[in-house]
Amino acid sequence: MKSVTVTGGGIAGLSAAVFLSERNYKVKLFESSPKLGGRAYSFFDKEKNQFFDNGQHILAGWYKNTFEYLNITGSSGNLNFQKTLEINFINQEKRLYRLNCPAVSPPYNILAGLLKFRALDFRDKTALINLKKLFAGRINADTFRNVKELLTDLKQTDNLIKYFWDPFNLAVFNTVSENISAELFLNVINRGFKEKKSSALVIPEVNLNELLIDGTVKYFRERGIEFFLNTGVSRFAVNESCKKIEFLELENGSRETSDYYICAVPFFGFRKLFEKKVFDEFGYNTEKLKSSAIISVHLFFKNRIPGKLIPENSSGMTGLTGTKVQWIFKRSDIHLSLVISGAGYLGLIEKSSEDIFEIVMNDLKMTIKGFDETALSDYRIIKEKRATFIPDKESSKYRPKQKTYLSNFYIAGDWTDTGLPATIESAVTSAKICTEEITNSF
Ligand SMILES: Cc1cc2nc3c(=O)[nH]c(=O)nc-3n(C[C@H](O)[C@H](O)[C@H](O)COP(=O)(O)OP(=O)(O)OC[C@H]3O[C@@H](n4cnc5c(N)ncnc54)[C@H](O)[C@@H]3O)c2cc1C
Repeated sequence: MKSVTVTGGGIAGLSAAVFLSERNYKVKLFESSPKLGGRAYSFFDKEKNQFFDNGQHILAGWYKNTFEYLNITGSSGNLNFQKTLEINFINQEKRLYRLNCPAVSPPYNILAGLLKFRALDFRDKTALINLKKLFAGRINADTFRNVKELLTDLKQTDNLIKYFWDPFNLAVFNTVSENISAELFLNVINRGFKEKKSSALVIPEVNLNELLIDGTVKYFRERGIEFFLNTGVSRFAVNESCKKIEFLELENGSRETSDYYICAVPFFGFRKLFEKKVFDEFGYNTEKLKSSAIISVHLFFKNRIPGKLIPENSSGMTGLTGTKVQWIFKRSDIHLSLVISGAGYLGLIEKSSEDIFEIVMNDLKMTIKGFDETALSDYRIIKEKRATFIPDKESSKYRPKQKTYLSNFYIAGDWTDTGLPATIESAVTSAKICTEEITNSF
């Protein structure tokens, strides 16, 4: 049995451990923090005596590698798969618009949904014809500096951008179209509009710990995978000829050796694990990747949320337009979870929780009919400053391949070169690539 050590217990590290164990490798995992899950986690709120997520996570029908991982760990039953893409939007005039795509093959599902979408007028609908080039895969990404330019070239109207492309971009890329590389955008379009169900949303029905961690820990115990919390790796030691890793050193000073090493830490924690000489040899510029923030707001009501306040649909997800808050998720009869993506770009991340709460209240009063602030009992605000990397055109130069010049060393993580934005699917895809590379290495 060949051995592998995995550094980092986020989704990339966890799924790498699972995929490798499936191939009969002996795996050990080290995580520096007191918990598994990395940027996708639930925390226990003593006052409420309940777990809450650090931020609402949604998956999509095209997250193939993620579903494979969740199937292995027995957690896929905790997902609500929409039959087809269906989202409610509410605008600043408190008007509700339902985007409802029929169950036909893509791209006709999305085009038919947009043709029926009442937020769009005749001119907007005529502009849909220009998307032919996009769905036919006839766009050269290199000719655009960003997605804003690409959408302008496709003559997308203000309404199409406001009610479709802006929400899509913020949800998938956590930033505005000026900051998104056309190449990554086209990769997502190709995956998302490939099969009937690939564009449908997939919403976790349980908290992130239950979805991503509990099943994995059970799997680890059954398969004898050892994992160590509060056990950070301080460096990877490279042999004299700079050809392979000799051992890794833990922050407590002890050393670990294995046949293979996977490093699954975030981009901002990668460089310090190597001596300068070794890092220079990689030729990476990982420190040039930039971060984008997400603010999550949990609102608790004193009594049951009135039925008509947030109109129901199959995802429990409502988009707001023209506001800082972009998405509202109904998590229980008394709990709403709100998302503000691109929060740094919107100038919110440095604001106090009180100021953010006030902004959120104004947004809700502006959009939700009958919203009454005094019906709330409590709120929590969670700021994730480094939620994702900014997927601009430059970023592709700084994302390393999973296989490195060191023969026994691999890199996993949503920020590595997967061709995808920073998502759970990118993290799991990187783990899958590492597993394939290791398996094929002899
Ligand atoms: C609020 C929020 C909302 C999001 N929403 C979505 C969504 O809706 N859909 C979606 O697909 N994605 C979403 N994402 C992105 C998704 O969470 C990430 O892409 C994914 O979790 C990244 O996993 P990772 O394993 O690559 O990295 P990380 O989760 O960052 O894991 C890295 C791990 O390495 C550990 N580590 C660091 N240094 C060391 C060291 N020296 N030794 C040992 N361990 C170390 C860290 O503690 C961490 O646990 C969201 C993220 C946030 C923050």
